[in-house]
Amino acid sequence: MENEFDVVIIGGGISGCASFYVLSEYSSIKKVAIVEKCDQLAKISTNAKANSQTIHDGSIETNYTVEKAKKVKLSAFKVRRYAMNKNLQNKIIFENQKMAIGVGDEECAFMRKRHENFKEVFPDLEFFDKKIIKEIEPNIILGTNGGDRLENVEGSGFRKDWSAMNWELLAENFVSEAKKINPEGEVFLNFRVKKIEQHAGGYTLISDRSDKIHAKFVLVDAGSYSLPLAQSMGYGLDLGCLPVAGSFYFVPDLLRGKVYTVQNPKLPFAALHGDPDVVIKGKSRIGPTALTMPKLERNKHLFGGISMELLKMDLNKEVFKISCDLLSDKEIRDYVFRNIVFELPYIGKRKFLKDARKIIPSLKLEDLEYAEGFGEVRPQVLDRTKKKLELGEKKISTNKGITFNMTPSPGATSCLQNALVDVQEITTYLGANFDLERFYQDLSPEELNH
Ligand SMILES: Cc1cc2nc3c(=O)[nH]c(=O)nc-3n(C[C@H](O)[C@H](O)[C@H](O)COP(=O)(O)OP(=O)(O)OC[C@H]3O[C@@H](n4cnc5c(N)ncnc54)[C@H](O)[C@@H]3O)c2cc1C
Repeated sequence: MENEFDVVIIGGGISGCASFYVLSEYSSIKKVAIVEKCDQLAKISTNAKANSQTIHDGSIETNYTVEKAKKVKLSAFKVRRYAMNKNLQNKIIFENQKMAIGVGDEECAFMRKRHENFKEVFPDLEFFDKKIIKEIEPNIILGTNGGDRLENVEGSGFRKDWSAMNWELLAENFVSEAKKINPEGEVFLNFRVKKIEQHAGGYTLISDRSDKIHAKFVLVDAGSYSLPLAQSMGYGLDLGCLPVAGSFYFVPDLLRGKVYTVQNPKLPFAALHGDPDVVIKGKSRIGPTALTMPKLERNKHLFGGISMELLKMDLNKEVFKISCDLLSDKEIRDYVFRNIVFELPYIGKRKFLKDARKIIPSLKLEDLEYAEGFGEVRPQVLDRTKKKLELGEKKISTNKGITFNMTPSPGATSCLQNALVDVQEITTYLGANFDLERFYQDLSPEELNH
């Protein structure tokens, strides 16, 4: 039979492409395919315009605990090491200074304490007082009247770090490298999986044009569509999805590196940050905002792309309760409404200016430009049993030859770590070999001894 594979990966974003690469390079499985609904790889969350282009290693992400930082650091190390091994410096991976800043006495005290705690994980982390920040990132300190801003500002970070990634190009690189090693690997574009049928030997994936592909193991890396696909097969029915779109604003080239701010612990999404854009040279990008919308994929038209799959997943009393609980908190409610306003013409820019001035106090209205066509949806997972919003990624392993991954931020950073876990599961399931030692030697030598 034609189109028969050992493994088929649904989704050609960074997750699917990383697994395609890891299978091809480190396992004995060669009949591997990706099916992708778009006409190109990496068009949705992995697209260079969609995300914050950051390798999240936990050093400046003020919403991460020390424990979370230890974990993401290992994931970050793998993508960084891959990019270095393949000589992708200044093409796909970029070096910047980076820092998290506290503004005002309370946030500065938080930053000082955080810095001491995080030095355990990042021994080279440097503390920046207002004077140093003025030297290395002057626009944070420059006030509106040409002098220094009045509040104290303190930060913690690195003067140099390979911290920015064009995830779209990295996804494409994974596939081209995989194809060099394994010419039997295939990518089917314009293949939207509409139905997955299980049978004795595995699964048949049927596209919306009735094309069929057969697989012994199916890895679903379909981003925000993974959960609807899982639910169509009776898995993950205890979960829901809260899609939170993020948009960005451009300002001129006012930042030398990444600047993250202190997280309000009540808010589930990362605080505003700014950094030089890796695709549009000469601009800094500030964002992302956080707008809840009934869509699994951002559509450029306001009402276009409203997702029936999402309504099917979320029209139930538990998701309603989680939403009401979140909105019952005044700070969260204000945050949600403020983020709605950010999207409105005329007034949005004016409101956003106020928030962006926390990073660049001298910013003027005419400096701000809504980044049209930038941003995407973060599919946050809702746990209907625990009746709460779950932050981070979620995996549904069935032990029946099909696994589903949901990958909100920092899903791009975790792509090789997730691929490692998935490929180990796949090779065990299919009785194939996986060269774990070589994987660690190449991508994470410090883990070899553990
Ligand atoms: C605003 C924003 C900022 C972010 N910033 C960062 C950051 O700085 N660093 C970081 O690490 N992460 C960041 N993230 C998260 C990161 O972008 C995602 O975790 C990552 O891109 C997810 O990759 P993926 O391959 O799992 O999903 P996607 O990139 O969404 O890929 C899924 C693919 O599956 C395809 N697909 C879906 N359904 C089907 C189907 N039925 N049949 C066939 N194909 C299908 C889609 O077309 C798509 O190509 C950010 C996300 C957002 C939205």
